[in-house]
Amino acid sequence: MKVHHLNCGTMRPPGGFTLVCHCLLLETPRGLCLVDTGFGRGEAAFGALPGYYRRLVRPALAQEESAHHQVTALGHDPRDVRDIVVTHLDVDHAGGLRDFPWARVHLHAAEHAAATRPARPADRNRYRARQWEHGVDWMTYDDRGGDTLFGLSAIRPLHDLPGLALIPLAGHSRGHSGVAVDTGDGWLLHAGDAYWFHGEVAPRPHCPLALSLTQRLIADDHRARTENLSRLRDLPAEVRLFSAHDPHELDLALT
Ligand SMILES: [Zn+2]
Repeated sequence: MKVHHLNCGTMRPPGGFTLVCHCLLLETPRGLCLVDTGFGRGEAAFGALPGYYRRLVRPALAQEESAHHQVTALGHDPRDVRDIVVTHLDVDHAGGLRDFPWARVHLHAAEHAAATRPARPADRNRYRARQWEHGVDWMTYDDRGGDTLFGLSAIRPLHDLPGLALIPLAGHSRGHSGVAVDTGDGWLLHAGDAYWFHGEVAPRPHCPLALSLTQRLIADDHRARTENLSRLRDLPAEVRLFSAHDPHELDLALT
């Protein structure tokens, strides 16, 4: 399976940090599949993000960083993106869903419920329904099957996506999941927002205080997040692990 690593959204929050939206474009037998979408073209074109978000996160919103633009630049027809697997539905991961309205969107059932039927104020504030108001063909999954991968619970197969699995990693959001990809040349694990900084999964874990505090502050369930983070530290070395926002991990994947 051919795998492209893309940055679909640079962010420069206060403190001198640069964060990316590390997405995957997979060339599968069924067609193209995106893992996360980053910010979409609409956010860039219409400045639709709330003012507080733009001030705190400072997304670049560059058209050329959109997944739609990059799929085209790689010589593909965006209509060939038949499937999108999302780690969760925050705007920096699902902002591009509207750019591929024909694609099926695969995700954990708990994330779908939290975002589309928000029962708590925190969920009503967190998610932006306009990202899916075009009508999405959702494919939802729960983790009652008892399967495992690399010692982590796993949901597989995903419909028509052999070689892909959702790895439930709740904590950052209610149904947050990693996405495992069997490339034919080893496994990748896109851990989404299970962590933000590569030092968090290092043998001696460390993280800049501002990133650590922010993750704690915005976590849906801090304890679940730290438990899952410790499970990720125990992954076998042959699994190529990376998270959504660390530019260092993206650089490593691109070399
Ligand atoms: Zn994120």
